[in-house]
Parts: sequence; structure tokens; C-alpha cells
Amino acid sequence: MTKTVKVGSLFMGGNNPISVQSMANIKTSKTTQVIEQISRLEKLGCDLIRVSVKDQEDILSLKKIKESISIPLVADIHFDYRLAIGAIEQGVDKIRINPGNIGGEDRVTMVADALKANKVACRVGSNTGSIEKKFAQKYGKSEIALAESALEKVSMLEKHGVYDIVVSAKASSVPLTVSTYKYLHEKTNYPLHVGVTEAGTLNSGLVKGSAGIGALLLSGIGDTIRFSLASPPEEEVKAGVKLLRALGLKENGVEIIACPTCGRTEYDSIGLANRVEQLTAHIKKPLKIAVMGCVVNGPGEAKDCDIGIAGNGENCVIFKKGEVYLNAPINDAERVFLEEINKLI
Ligand code: SF4
Repeated sequence: MTKTVKVGSLFMGGNNPISVQSMANIKTSKTTQVIEQISRLEKLGCDLIRVSVKDQEDILSLKKIKESISIPLVADIHFDYRLAIGAIEQGVDKIRINPGNIGGEDRVTMVADALKANKVACRVGSNTGSIEKKFAQKYGKSEIALAESALEKVSMLEKHGVYDIVVSAKASSVPLTVSTYKYLHEKTNYPLHVGVTEAGTLNSGLVKGSAGIGALLLSGIGDTIRFSLASPPEEEVKAGVKLLRALGLKENGVEIIACPTCGRTEYDSIGLANRVEQLTAHIKKPLKIAVMGCVVNGPGEAKDCDIGIAGNGENCVIFKKGEVYLNAPINDAERVFLEEINKLI
């Protein structure tokens, strides 16, 4: 089992729930917009959020952002140790940094001291673009090279007495990502931040992310997850929450069961399924909602759903746990169905 690391109000690793994270995609100095975006992500189920810190202007926004949100805040820093120290002093809960590229041992010491003094966690890691040369030469572009690059950064922090560490080692290839995390899982007990990096546009990214993260989570590997999608971060959070639900690792929220439709479909069930999903995305209560094309198979196939709807000629039937209890004309069915869902919430 991985060790538990405290990240603000969140506990990562051990037996704690797997957290969903994402990254704001607005410049951090645009404080109000960033806060608004994070608030939207929180409502969708984001458990912690990362922002990039590129300059002093960004640093100045961190405190206000931190005060305005209720999930832990992570600062993403490249190269400049002063930005890392500045972010820590502004109250972020975790930083992501590469101790190998901030310019030498004395700077690593300063960052490590700031981390310890403020009890701030740190994520270190690697990706296929940042494999250390010596490992690439020795092991090629392999899971060992990728994982050992990450583990070397862990050692750099441990040398300075930093132990609140989260580790990542991502590739955009699903098989390489999975084998790398399996290797890491054998070698370290720090919590693992799992994801397939630069997974692509929404559709292909969802497939790659789900395949990679899903395979790892089903093997018991992974403590926090991020979908890296070329899409708004809202999509990343929705995907993370849905994946955890699909794997039985999260009970909260609405799960939509919808049939693929066929020649028996009696109404626009696909359109309705999408609208119901959108309208219920913010609901935390565990609820299974079925939207089925026809009454022939719909209620039976969705027996374990709390509520469902299926087409039946001129009407739609609404059912609970597979038992029909209400009829509504097709034109009015959506309104009636949403009202019935609201009664359950
Ligand atoms: S529930 Fe009905 S409409 Fe949907 S796929 Fe099954 S048979 Fe076809």
C-alpha cells in the first residue's frame, strides 16, 4: 500500500479515495477567471486543481485563488526555484517541480526547506520528453528509463528530508504508461499520480486515458488521476469522475445508462440521454438513471436503475427499478422525466 500524503485538506495514497484532478487553462494572473473556472470544476467533482506559475504576476494571484476555492491548490513550476518558493509562501498545498532543472544543489536545498517549513507536498516525475540522458542511454526509451528518471528526483528530495512526495511517470503511449507505473509500483510506496500524457483530442484522449488509467486502477495502482485532454478541463474532470464510477471506485454522482438505440427505438433517446447527463452533472447523490429507446427491452435491461424512461409508441414509460409507474406522451416525456428525477434528488 502507498503511504498517505496530506495535500491541504486532501489525503492522497493509502486507503484514501482516489482523487480526480485537472489543470486550469487560463493564465494564473487572471485571478477572477481562474477562480470561476476552478469553481466550475469543483462542482463537477474535481478534488484538486493545478495552476501554472510562470512569473511573479502569477505568484501574486495564488493567495486570492487559494482563499476563494475549497479544493487543494497545486502550483506547477518549471526551472525557476524562486517561483517555487514564492508559490509555497503564498499558501499552495502542493507544488509540481523538477528538482533536476532548477539550477543546482543549493537551490534544491532552498526549495526543500520551504516545503518542509510550510508542510507542502511535492510532485516529481518524468515523461517521455524528460527522460534523463543516462537512463535513456542505458535502458532506451523504456519503462525502466522513464520510471528511474522519476525515482531519481524522489531521491533528490529525500536527500533533503522531504518525504511528502507524489510521483508520476507518464507517456502518451498507453502500454508504456501502464508498464512504467507497474514498475514504479514495485519500487516505491509514495502515492502515484496516474495518467496518459498528451492523450489527444476529446474522443481519442478519452479512449487512451480510460484504457491506461483504467488498466492501472484495476490492478490497484494509482492514488490520483488526471485525464490530459486537448479539451477544456471540465471534460477532464467529467472523464475522471465517470471512470472512477465505471470502475466501482466512486459511489457519488449520477450514472447514465443509455441503450445504443436500434430499429425499435421509439423517440430521440440519444438526445434525451445527453440532456439528462448535462442537467445532472453537478449532482452528488448516487443515482443510476436509464434512458432506453424502447419498452420491449428498456425497463428489463435497466432493472438496477433508480429511475428510467423508455419509448412505447405514442408514449414514453417511466420506471423505477424496472417497474413501470407512469406514462407520458412523447412530446411531454422529457419534462415529466426531469420532474421525476428532481423528486429523487
Ligand atoms: S432498449 Fe430497445 S431501442 Fe434500445 S437497443 Fe435495446 S431493443 Fe433497441
